[in-house]
Amino acid sequence: MQFIDLATQQTRIKEQIDANIQTVLAHGRYIMGPEIAELENRLAEYVNCRHAIGCASGTDALLMALLALDVGPGDAVFTSPFTFIATAEVIQLIGATPVFVDIDPTTFNIDPAKLEEAIAASKTHDTSLYPQPLNPKCIIPVDLFGLLADYERIEAIAKKYGLFVIEDAAQSFGAEYREKKACAFGHIAATSFFPAKPLGCYGDGGMCFTGDAKLAEALRSIRVHGKGSHKYDNARIGVNGRLDTLQAAVLLAKFNIFPEEVELRQMAAARYTELLSQCSTLTVPGIPEGYASVWAQYSILTNGRKRDDFQKALKEDNIPTAIYYPKPLHLQTAFKGLGYKSGDFPISEDASERIFSIPMHPYLTEEDQTKIVNVINTLC
Ligand SMILES: *Cc1c(COP(=O)(O)O)cnc(C)c1O
Repeated sequence: MQFIDLATQQTRIKEQIDANIQTVLAHGRYIMGPEIAELENRLAEYVNCRHAIGCASGTDALLMALLALDVGPGDAVFTSPFTFIATAEVIQLIGATPVFVDIDPTTFNIDPAKLEEAIAASKTHDTSLYPQPLNPKCIIPVDLFGLLADYERIEAIAKKYGLFVIEDAAQSFGAEYREKKACAFGHIAATSFFPAKPLGCYGDGGMCFTGDAKLAEALRSIRVHGKGSHKYDNARIGVNGRLDTLQAAVLLAKFNIFPEEVELRQMAAARYTELLSQCSTLTVPGIPEGYASVWAQYSILTNGRKRDDFQKALKEDNIPTAIYYPKPLHLQTAFKGLGYKSGDFPISEDASERIFSIPMHPYLTEEDQTKIVNVINTLC
């Protein structure tokens, strides 16, 4: 059994993938070929957001968003410590300071009440919360495991304090909150097409989304070394952040069946939740009213029994599991300089000790799910 099965999907659409790749080989426009704009248009329409800018990875999408919003040294960027390294890495990379805010224990997404506390404290330069006086500038909420963060409250807070919002939608492309899709939130949204993400290509890829024409123009410039209107006069400092034409061609084939795959993921998740909700030694994911997750991961919290016991029992039956994330970012060596310590974000730290994820993908069979649940049930 596989944690994420990409082979079954490939079998389904192999002809279309092959045809799309052959088209690229025939026209030879490997850099910024016509498939890029076609994909941008289709995904912008799906998300219902005016501008889409393809780029080289989810990490580049976040980096380009920060550059477009002119975030830099002296600026505070508020984000979750319970996420993949890339979210906070790009903040530090451009010389701004990540300010971590603990998560909600049910959704694992940034806690809006704590976010407002941290922003208010930064306004009064309360240095007990971070090492130096900073200018609060931006919030990067993460849609963890495919579930949108609480943008209603986060966007209200951002407006109140005059901050930008960048949606880290690397795990949530296809998710919804009351008919509004992931990547339609914040000033800029950033998603990833890493193969294991809900919409993945066959390598690295990503995309920025924005409703603002000026930001879209800045992102298109930043994507190609900050190019300006004259070929040899660059307007700003940017990156080499283009999406490959071949990856766009693969994504066009995959996107044809993507809406159906989102439904298959949601059916598989509902089945897990139904079969596992009686288990007293674990807590299944809680999805608040009005939200539809795209289930990048199906993550469970263990209570009263060791996570290791579950993982070992599953492994004995060749069922793979994973831990997202075993170490919150504030405790990682890379962020040592920020001066955080163990105990600073108790909800994130607790989740990192008790969480684990079980196989999740659109082609998970009922038979496999029953097998997984039967093993888990021996420990309930
Ligand atoms: C995967 C991921 C990224 C980075 O995406 P890449 O395409 O791998 O660069 C950023 N943030 C989160 C939350 C992710 O899961």
